[in-house]
Amino acid sequence: MRILDKFNLNTIDRPYILVCSSNSQMLFAKELMDKAKIENQLIPTPKGFGGVCTTAIKFPEDHTQEVAGLTATYGLEIEGIYPMTSRYKYDLSTIEAKGLSDRLMEILSRISENAELDRDEIKYLLEIEDETEYKALLQAADIIRRECVGQHIELRAAIEFSNYCSKNCNYCGVRRDKKMTRYRMSEEDILGEVDLLNRIGIKTVILQSGEDSYYTAEKIIKIIKKIKGKYGMQITLSIGERNNNEFALFREAGVNNYLLKIETANRELFQQLHPDDDFELRVAQSRQIKDAGIRLGSGGMVGLPGQTIDHLVEDIIFQRDFGVHMIGFGPFLPAKGTPYEAMPPGDLRLSLKMIAVARIVCQHVFLPATTAIASLNPEAQALALMAGANTIMLVSTPKELRNNYQIYSNKNMVDLSFAIKSVQEAGRKLPKYLNFKYIEELGYKIPKELIE
Ligand code: SF4
Repeated sequence: MRILDKFNLNTIDRPYILVCSSNSQMLFAKELMDKAKIENQLIPTPKGFGGVCTTAIKFPEDHTQEVAGLTATYGLEIEGIYPMTSRYKYDLSTIEAKGLSDRLMEILSRISENAELDRDEIKYLLEIEDETEYKALLQAADIIRRECVGQHIELRAAIEFSNYCSKNCNYCGVRRDKKMTRYRMSEEDILGEVDLLNRIGIKTVILQSGEDSYYTAEKIIKIIKKIKGKYGMQITLSIGERNNNEFALFREAGVNNYLLKIETANRELFQQLHPDDDFELRVAQSRQIKDAGIRLGSGGMVGLPGQTIDHLVEDIIFQRDFGVHMIGFGPFLPAKGTPYEAMPPGDLRLSLKMIAVARIVCQHVFLPATTAIASLNPEAQALALMAGANTIMLVSTPKELRNNYQIYSNKNMVDLSFAIKSVQEAGRKLPKYLNFKYIEELGYKIPKELIE
């Protein structure tokens, strides 16, 4: 058995889910099920069974009595134990059938029944070229997005605090061998940026860097604790692979999410892109993050050299079956001074189809309209929001440093005014949690219709 097969979450026939009332109760329940040798997997709680940020435990029907017994014996606080067959249904009746092929009609009918799409169905959707079918695909994704995560955009902000990296990924503009100005932000400077974000009302800060061993777990934990203690913000770490015992320490310190992208779920392609990495280790680390009780962010690039539609089908299935909470698909963009600098960028339309199919297949998750898609074309962030995406990440690295953190060239430094423009073009809402008064004091104009 390949290690990926072992982690495939689709091995459970007739699945049930246990939904607990909190993350800590969920982790306790998982520990009890592991001890009792009950096969289980952590997944984003499906729509209809709990909130979008929560995690459910999937297990086989045969163990329902045993799981109920464990929850009773240990006094676990649970929301319930449910068969996954009683899944949420989607009303796609507003999609105009005229001009759609029988095959697409059949797939749409299965989507509205919330059936699990197979490889051929996912491939059909990704290969759509006909304009009417393309619009129907995006419309289906938009309906499911509205049902799952509503109208407002989740606005997060990334502080790229170090561009030192020990690795040499072939596509990356901050890879080890690239000659460039390197920087590291001090704890004080990082906290200064966090303070600004807190005043704007941002609820989730993303601390991102290359794989930089200068920032030991101890240093990272100190920063996490200060942010949690002073601001109580949600924290996403995006600092690459770490020693596996560190994920539990990060969780204890207060980390909520960890972004470790797989980039491609195809082993051979992964190895071509990542000369220093091992595919199985990346999968294992992704699993360790989930098992530590941290929500996993993953995703991949569209239009990589050597990538086929079948690879993209694998990517979608990997994200679904691995139970990822936040899935970022964006176009591959070449970076100057890297082995891939002369390669063509990923295609916008295919990138939008990937977002739409990811929403249809994975449903109750966060899908960013990525900085990469906004860099490919300034209109594209709004188009991604209309194709199933619901999240924007602001670039909140200090202005004097951000040009030195370009994983790809000509990066769009998505700031608040760019995000507001995208939200407006997509006809969506800004989140209520923003401090609109303070944002306007900073000189940003917020059209009234964007406030929920
Ligand atoms: S993709 Fe990440 S790990 Fe790879 S070189 Fe770039 S910053 Fe380093």
